[in-house]
Amino acid sequence: MTTNISPLARASVQAIEPYASARRSMSGGAVWLNANENALAPSYQLNGCFNRYPSCQPASLVQAYASYAGVQPEQVLVSRGADEGIELLIRSFCEPVEDRIAICPPTYGMYAISAQSNQVATVTVPLLPDFTLDTDALMQCNAKLVFICSPNNPTGDLIPRQQIIEVLEHFHGEALVVVDEAYIEFAMQASVIDLLATYPHLVILRTLSKAFALAGLRCGFTLAAPEVIQALKQMIAPYPIAEPVAQIATQALSEQGIAAMQQSVATINQLRNDFSQFVAGQPGVTTVWPSNANYVLLQVDDAAACVSALQAEGILIRNQSAQRGLSEVVRVSIGSPEEMQALQQAMQRYFSSCTSADSTPDQSMQVQEENT
Ligand SMILES: *Cc1c(COP(=O)(O)O)cnc(C)c1O
Repeated sequence: MTTNISPLARASVQAIEPYASARRSMSGGAVWLNANENALAPSYQLNGCFNRYPSCQPASLVQAYASYAGVQPEQVLVSRGADEGIELLIRSFCEPVEDRIAICPPTYGMYAISAQSNQVATVTVPLLPDFTLDTDALMQCNAKLVFICSPNNPTGDLIPRQQIIEVLEHFHGEALVVVDEAYIEFAMQASVIDLLATYPHLVILRTLSKAFALAGLRCGFTLAAPEVIQALKQMIAPYPIAEPVAQIATQALSEQGIAAMQQSVATINQLRNDFSQFVAGQPGVTTVWPSNANYVLLQVDDAAACVSALQAEGILIRNQSAQRGLSEVVRVSIGSPEEMQALQQAMQRYFSSCTSADSTPDQSMQVQEENT
């Protein structure tokens, strides 16, 4: 008996191209600088038995994040990564087939993928050449959720606060404006969290995956008016936060955990500034964009060749050339001091080989096309 199951899946599911995460699209390598993770990782302890179901919204964790962020516990939803926050916002606020979200690429890929998997259309309003919002175009569009990423992944720039306010003013009563602050700890002064007090349709996404060095934990937060949080709680699974996750996340948000995070942010920001300065002096690097996060976007002569040359040396970085408006661009996540040293040595070898007439870089490895 032959089984042909694929045609049984929903047509909209068959059409989906899954998110090409860094982990999924590149394997191997010893130095991982392709997923914006934090290499400076503390370790944690677990206590007790795990025979009971966990709380849906563990109170001490919600309380810990609320006091870290300076909001009320009713304004906090904890979820399986910020990615689940994105998904829940779409499922709670967008009517399939009818409603739309707006995104401003080049940006994080999951907004469009979550929308597509929920049969919600995406309106695309590209960033201007200086990577600020095209507010006029954005305000023309009819959308239920407007996603703004600041610091933006992969460009590293901050969306000007005045533009966010302008967009909030315009969409009052019509749409939620979601500001994704996944990297905000690297530029804390730029947070728009204070605007929650003024705008009940502002939503802020946060995560423990980046500055807190807990990408493997899967823990994120949505901060918004209590009515928004309530709507998300109607949709969330009964046990989204495993007990070990709640325990570790609560330790990460202790006074000591926050101090360790701030220390690691200071180290990474310094390593990033040093790397940006180094790479700007390399032949074959045409642009180094200023970054407010733990990664740097570079334009090079040949992005695919640069990625494969480094991969051949066990160093993984990310080709971002498939993103709208970015050509021959790579994104480098900031790793440990040792990893950055290995990267800089490998880059020096690669870029000098590009400029010398008689040698060509190693292009034997195939690099997969990626959508983000
Ligand atoms: C990494 C990232 C996320 C997802 O964070 P998780 O909490 O790991 O799901 C969300 N938004 C942006 C912009 C990111 O780069």
